[in-house]
Amino acid sequence: MNDNGNKHFGHERTKKILKITGIIVVSAGAVLTIIGLVSFFSAFGGGEAPRLFWCTLLGLPMLGVGGMICMLGFKREITRYVKNESVPVINEAGEEIAPAVGAIADAARGESGENLCPHCGKPNTDEAKFCRHCGGELTVTCPVCGEKVKDGKFCDNCGAKLKQ
Ligand SMILES: [Zn+2]
Ligand SMILES: [Zn+2]
Repeated sequence: MNDNGNKHFGHERTKKILKITGIIVVSAGAVLTIIGLVSFFSAFGGGEAPRLFWCTLLGLPMLGVGGMICMLGFKREITRYVKNESVPVINEAGEEIAPAVGAIADAARGESGENLCPHCGKPNTDEAKFCRHCGGELTVTCPVCGEKVKDGKFCDNCGAKLKQ
């Protein structure tokens, strides 16, 4: 005996009952509503009391309840439909978001955009000594302290001016 299989089967059967019940209740509710409305409007024309108007009062709640039962029964189908419908939207959004995400990913990798390669101008991680885009050296030898420091206006080791 497979308990999971039985549970699954029971679940499917419940869904089937929900679907059928929902459709029946919605159909009956729709018919009652229409009968009531027809009675109501024909009563207007004939000057009689709308004797079958109670059908609408009964039919409308049935439409609502039946609709809810249908929603429960068709939940998976609706979910699947909504998912399929929204996938292209997500893809489109993804294409627009991708560059922004790329920039965030660059920032997360430590590419603040400040450690630009002096040879090719592309950003590198703050710790990088050589450019990962062109292989060029990102550091310069400080003329005062002799340390290999990041290219910039001043030596970040001793504060000496690197560029005139
Ligand atoms: Zn470079
Ligand atoms: Zn220095």
